[in-house]
Amino acid sequence: MNGTRDETMPALYKSGPGAGLELVEAPVPRPGADEVLIRVLLTGICGTDLHILQWDDWAQGSVRTPLIPGHECVGRIVETGSGVRGLREGQTVGVEGHLTCGRCAQCRSGARHLCLNNINLGVHTDGVFARYVVVPAANVWVHGEGVPLEVASIFDPLGNAVHAATTHPVSGLSVLITGAGPIGLMAAQICARMGARSVVVTDVSSFRLLLAENIDVVPAAAPESGSEELREAGDTPLGFDIGLEMSGAPEALQTMLDAVSPGGRIVALGLPSRETSVDWADISTRMLSIQGVSGRRIPETWRSVAALVANGLDPSFVITHTFRYDQYAEAFATAASGRAGKVLLDWT
Ligand code: ZN
Repeated sequence: MNGTRDETMPALYKSGPGAGLELVEAPVPRPGADEVLIRVLLTGICGTDLHILQWDDWAQGSVRTPLIPGHECVGRIVETGSGVRGLREGQTVGVEGHLTCGRCAQCRSGARHLCLNNINLGVHTDGVFARYVVVPAANVWVHGEGVPLEVASIFDPLGNAVHAATTHPVSGLSVLITGAGPIGLMAAQICARMGARSVVVTDVSSFRLLLAENIDVVPAAAPESGSEELREAGDTPLGFDIGLEMSGAPEALQTMLDAVSPGGRIVALGLPSRETSVDWADISTRMLSIQGVSGRRIPETWRSVAALVANGLDPSFVITHTFRYDQYAEAFATAASGRAGKVLLDWT
C-alpha cells in the first residue's frame, strides 16, 4: 500500500435508525482481494437516498445502519485487490449498485438482475457518498474515452431508463410516460430517439415538465389531464400502445391504465409507497400486459447505455444542480423539492 494515501475521508453517515445524515471523517476502506478502491468524483442523489435521509417506512424496513448511503457515482480506480484482473489504477469507472452473489440459480443462468441474494450498495452496505468507496471488481463499469464526467455520473439511472424503454419495441408506436423525474425524462428521450410515433410525459411538477421541453416529446400536466386529453396530446385516439409508469403514484397508475389501448403494454418501474388497488377485470377484458422493471440487466443494459452515449445521446439536460459535498443538506432539500431534475454532489 502507498503510505502517502489518505487514511480518513469525508463521508455522509447515518449512525443508527432515524432521520437525517451527518458529515463525518471516516476511515478510508481497504479493498479485499476481489475488490477495488475508487476515488469518488461525482455522485447522484436518487429517490432511494431521500427515503434513507427521511427514514420513512421503506427505509425502516430495508436499510442497515450504521451506513454511508449513495449508489450513483463516477470515480477513478486508485487501488485494486490482489485477485483483480482486467482493471487498473486511473480508469474512470461507474458502479453497478446491485451486489449479486454469482452463485444462485439466477446468477448462474445469466440473470444477475434477479439474484436471490442481492444486496444494494448504499442501502445494505457502505455506498458512494464519501471520498472513497470499495466495491467488488465484478460491479465496476469502465467508461469509454470521451464520456463527460457528469454524464458518466448518471449511467445508473440512465440504465433504469434504457431498461424500461427497451422492454418493448416502441418504433412507430405511441408512448405515455407517467413521471417526469430524471429516469422518466431520459426514458422519453430514448423512446423518441428509437422512433416512437408520439411520446407524452406527465408529472405533477411543472418544473419537471419544463425540462421535457429539451427533448422532442409532448409535456402534459397531470393529474389534471384526463386520459382523453392525454390521448389527444399523443394523437392516439384508441389509446397508447406502450406505457412507462415511472412515478409510483397510485393516481398515475390509474391514469396509465385508463390511457392505454386494448392490448396495451405497461412497464412498471415506479415504486408506490403503499399498496394500491387496480381493476383486474379491466386488465383481463382489455388484455393489458404489465411488466415490472427494476435496476439494470447486468451487463447488457450498461453496454446499451454506453452505446447510446457513444452514438450521441446526451442526457445531461436532466442534471439541474451540482453541490459541493459539504452542502449536502441544501442538495438533498433541492432534490426533494420537485423543482429539480438530477442533483449531483461534487467530491473532488
Ligand atoms: Zn445470485
